[in-house]
Amino acid sequence: MIVCKNCLYSHKHPLGISFKNNICSGCFTHEEKYNLDWGERRDLLSEKIQKIIKSNKSTYDCVIPYSGDAEDYHVVNIVLELGLKPLMVSVNDYFMNDIGWHNAHNLITHFDLDSYQFNPEISTYKELVRTSMRKYNHALWPSFALKTSFPIHVAKQKKIPLIITGQNQSIEQIGKFSHIDEVQITSWSRIEHDLLGFTLKDLLGSGGHVVPKEHPYYSYPDLTKLGKGSLIGIYLSNYFLWDPILQNSKVSKFGFISQKQTSTFDPYERAGSSIYYNFHDLSKMLRCGYRKITDHVNREIRHKRIDRNEGKKIINYYQSKPVYIKDFFDWLDVSKSGYEWYKSHKLADVLHLISDKKNIYSSSNFALPVKLKKDIARGTNPKKSFQTFMKGIRL
Ligand SMILES: [Zn+2]
Repeated sequence: MIVCKNCLYSHKHPLGISFKNNICSGCFTHEEKYNLDWGERRDLLSEKIQKIIKSNKSTYDCVIPYSGDAEDYHVVNIVLELGLKPLMVSVNDYFMNDIGWHNAHNLITHFDLDSYQFNPEISTYKELVRTSMRKYNHALWPSFALKTSFPIHVAKQKKIPLIITGQNQSIEQIGKFSHIDEVQITSWSRIEHDLLGFTLKDLLGSGGHVVPKEHPYYSYPDLTKLGKGSLIGIYLSNYFLWDPILQNSKVSKFGFISQKQTSTFDPYERAGSSIYYNFHDLSKMLRCGYRKITDHVNREIRHKRIDRNEGKKIINYYQSKPVYIKDFFDWLDVSKSGYEWYKSHKLADVLHLISDKKNIYSSSNFALPVKLKKDIARGTNPKKSFQTFMKGIRL
């Protein structure tokens, strides 16, 4: 097994990673952050956007896909500073807790933006979640499919020429492209990086209970008739030095609420989700061999807030934390015996990480290295208590 000498990713990274002199491609590309002229890149982005929206007749300059994450606040702030008028577009994944709903609503009201939300038909959605869990041990596939395609449908329907989002995960994690390549949002990247390489047809196979053409928003729209270059999707992380902990800790001033997590030190990323650090983290462990904490640790090693040895200790601590997943199975309408079956057949290797109790906070917190702790603490105190699965079924 090859493990990077700088961070802790191995050659088994699910998005594909390469090595040179035992340093991973993610660490190589990360170094660009300290060599690029970010002022110049911001100007480049401004020019590029002006060209794209020059003959735009829509009320809005761009679509911003959002769910209320800390990063969405950062993106909106930049887009408004660039002088653009965005239409905010979101998909209800039914997984948000009360913190998530607060953050989604507050984002719109604080910045006084127009928004458009899609609530997928619940029985079809649940069937897709169950199918995705059976086939890929992945509960978020249907939600990722919708979140990465619905905003494109809206842009196409409303003739908005531009979509703006935050980070490009394949650059931030594994350095698949250089920042100067200015990689854009594409259908290929969506399937490859967001959807495990599968389309809706693959998920359903033959004899599925859901007919793909009746649910078009789960698939990318056909853009060929629009003509080349008439709908552009931009990642801001190609034009701004992307440092999630630093930028996310600053969005508390806009009313964003962070959430204390049991299985990571990061209270900002994906705050407000009922399953991201719960069921989804277990399935990530099964599919990838590590949990989200490893992504966070590697990110912080690269940003030089912690060293490699500190990173290993942090992973050891958080990766062994148990999670509560029964409420998710209740929401999915899975019976008690169905829950037990799934645990013993699909989660057998992570049974030790499944708890019968909700919100298992450790009485003694892990002592984080000082620099990391200080930068996290720039935001407000994370909230510890919340209600899971706030809308869609249980209100
Ligand atoms: Zn590395």
